[in-house]
Amino acid sequence: MEDARDRYIAPGCRLCREGAKLVLFVTGRCDRDCWYCPLSSGRKGVDRVFANDREVETEEDLIEEARVMSALGTGVTGGDPLLEPDRVVRFCRALKTTFGPDHQIHLYTGRAPTRDELLPLVGLVDEVRLHPPHADWGRILRTDYPRAIREARALGFAIGVEVPALPGIQGLAALLPLVDFLNINELEWGEANADGMRERGLELARPTGNAIAGSRDWARPLLGDPRTRYCTSAFKDSVQLRERLVRVARNTARPFDECTGDGTVVYGRLRPDGAVGEAVAALGLEEGEYAIEEGGLELAWWRLVEGRDTVAGEKAVVERYPNRGMIVEETPL
Ligand code: SF4
Repeated sequence: MEDARDRYIAPGCRLCREGAKLVLFVTGRCDRDCWYCPLSSGRKGVDRVFANDREVETEEDLIEEARVMSALGTGVTGGDPLLEPDRVVRFCRALKTTFGPDHQIHLYTGRAPTRDELLPLVGLVDEVRLHPPHADWGRILRTDYPRAIREARALGFAIGVEVPALPGIQGLAALLPLVDFLNINELEWGEANADGMRERGLELARPTGNAIAGSRDWARPLLGDPRTRYCTSAFKDSVQLRERLVRVARNTARPFDECTGDGTVVYGRLRPDGAVGEAVAALGLEEGEYAIEEGGLELAWWRLVEGRDTVAGEKAVVERYPNRGMIVEETPL
């Protein structure tokens, strides 16, 4: 049954929860320099485009990545995507043309966009998420953001605010009557913001994970409002990322790969002492039951376990992220 609070969840968040949202990083450039910016040094200020973790250059690259995960929507992020408006239009048009108008697209920006900045996005972007500067939160109604919110709404966008939990966040309560949603992200420690965190005496909530202690307490005064969602760092890793990997694994697994609930695939790998063809015959493998990769012969892990004494060579059960992603574990046999 639908939770009452679900009625207010941003449509883009629903898809994110299912792992069905592709993350399109349009540029690492941004005209702000927030001390808490979560971007890694490899992304911050760098003018490159990534779809999830894959660097893309063309619309075709993007569509391929969207297909691999059966994406139902896309979050356009950065940096500030509005510093590259033509790029945003080009990629969003490719997504909408390929997957149809129901492919839900949300766009993040640190700016208070003008009507002229928003107009080219009509019909391409469904939802706009604003991130006003921290220094403005206490005087938000005297900034340009209420005007941007009204204009976005008049143009038909779903409109909300998305910010990390920081002291003083209750100042944003003044915006709640104007927006469709307020998304608060748990403040996260990152390689590029570590000095800023230390300077402010902030610490990790737990030794494992990136969440900063006290985040939820700062956000608490706003959490009673039905338009507010609080997104924890653990949720992003354990639900959004895992669900996305599960989708990719389902789409890319070979017949003999076993897909796990964690979004990884497991298979057996044999580096035979003799010829690969001889090992295939000794194990009784038919076409489709194995693949020959650079690392050796790959097959169902249980077939390798069963046939381990019939072939000589280095044998292991391999668990890795899907689509030839990172190896998580290798268990020698
Ligand atoms: S506006 Fe966003 S991308 Fe730009 S510096 Fe701030 S947190 Fe980073």
